[in-house]
Amino acid sequence: MKIVIATNNQGKVREFKAMLSPLGYEPVSLKDEGIKINVVEDGETFEENAHLKAKAVYDICRLPVIADDSGLEVDFLDGAPGIYSARYAGEDATDKDLCEKILSELEGVDESLRKARFVCALYCIIDEDAEYSVLGTLEGSIGTEPRGENGFGYDPIFMVDEERSVAELSEEEKNKISHRSNALHKLTAILSEEKE
Ligand code: IMP
Repeated sequence: MKIVIATNNQGKVREFKAMLSPLGYEPVSLKDEGIKINVVEDGETFEENAHLKAKAVYDICRLPVIADDSGLEVDFLDGAPGIYSARYAGEDATDKDLCEKILSELEGVDESLRKARFVCALYCIIDEDAEYSVLGTLEGSIGTEPRGENGFGYDPIFMVDEERSVAELSEEEKNKISHRSNALHKLTAILSEEKE
């Protein structure tokens, strides 16, 4: 089944393709389908934003769509940057700027208070009668310096254990444990049940 991944983030597209292709889906990106869209993400939750994106793309292409909204929640910052993760350091900020902002806000904060999680909401529209919403998380903590070269966004400062940041994991290792794969497993379980 062809399924449109409703994101302009090529890092995410790569992860979805790697995770969905072995399950028999044919994931295609907005770029692959020639869809140019920039959805205003003005929902108040990850779930609402994922729904907005999925609906906007489905209305254009009428093909099965998966949209995601994801971000980082830091306990010490009362859950920030949350739904503002992409824009937390300003509109034109780089991934490096984002990481540096979080590190500076946590400067001097004890290790025990640096807990954080990645959250991913997925909203899937197969057709008008089949819509699904799931949430996946990855628990970890914020390190004290950027580590590793892989991944994107906050990966270099997000520690999965005492030794390794997400950016130090291979793409395959990340895809086994990530918030997106966690949500995607929930979604594919629902989709295969629906098929039966
Ligand atoms: P979205 O495209 O609105 O979902 O933006 C989410 C933002 O959260 C991204 O731009 C990243 O900064 C961050 N983010 C989401 N998922 C990940 C991840 O797997 N690793 C690192 N950062 C992430």
